[in-house]
Amino acid sequence: SLTIENLHKSYGSVEVLKGIDIEIEDGGFLVLVGPSGCGKSTLLNTIAGLEDITSGDIRIGDRSVAGLHPSKRDIAMVFQSYALYPNMSVAQNISFGMEIRGIDKASREKAIRDVADMLQIGQLLDRKPSQLSGGQRQRVAMGRALVRDPMVFLFDEPLSNLDAKLRVDMRTEIKRLHQRMGTTIVYVTHDQIEALTLATKIAVLKDGILQQFGTPAEIYNDPSNMFVADFMGSPS
Ligand code: ATP
Ligand code: MG
Repeated sequence: SLTIENLHKSYGSVEVLKGIDIEIEDGGFLVLVGPSGCGKSTLLNTIAGLEDITSGDIRIGDRSVAGLHPSKRDIAMVFQSYALYPNMSVAQNISFGMEIRGIDKASREKAIRDVADMLQIGQLLDRKPSQLSGGQRQRVAMGRALVRDPMVFLFDEPLSNLDAKLRVDMRTEIKRLHQRMGTTIVYVTHDQIEALTLATKIAVLKDGILQQFGTPAEIYNDPSNMFVADFMGSPS
């Protein structure tokens, strides 16, 4: 399981996460939603180890990862700003993490081919990131994370730059992928439909405070306050 326990995070004197408690079972799909600035990316960054926490704990299984270097956490993240290596081709971007782990060439090529098919970027493998659209870059960033095969995936609005059709395609692919691999996923989105269709659990954040944590049905049918009802578009 992935456990977030009484997590506080401040930047200087400003507290942006105010005591978050979340537990997600192995193979669970947690979707984080909430208004812009509520702390979603900050929460992902602390799980990934890119930001220190102020207090509290983050555990994978019974191991605390809060003090560990990002590379030791067995977590792969797709960023909101999907930074790619600008001087590498799409194929090299996807391959890089596998090369570092010592995976042989034939296996790397097969993995690249598989994710490229899934993400519909097979024709783009020889291009540089600067020659791609925003949505194409986003899919390359996702491919790079997928081939790493970690314990936990963190996705920060991975589909935000895609058109409606591609977004629905990708949503279906992500759901299928999750069912096949059984990896634990934490996923940030602004899209309520995406949240309700992908999640096993949804966490609704507002101003760094967890408003509600529950299954999609609980959140939608039994919102714990007006904010959650409003935000999730629950019937009144
Ligand atoms: P969005 O939906 O717009 O991506 P978010 O929920 O991901 O928003 P965060 O990026 O986590 O929001 O930011 C939470 C709060 O923390 C915001 O008020 C933001 O201005 C602040 N913040 C984020 N990073 C820093 C930083 N490095 N230094 C100071 N404040 C920061
Ligand atoms: Mg964000």
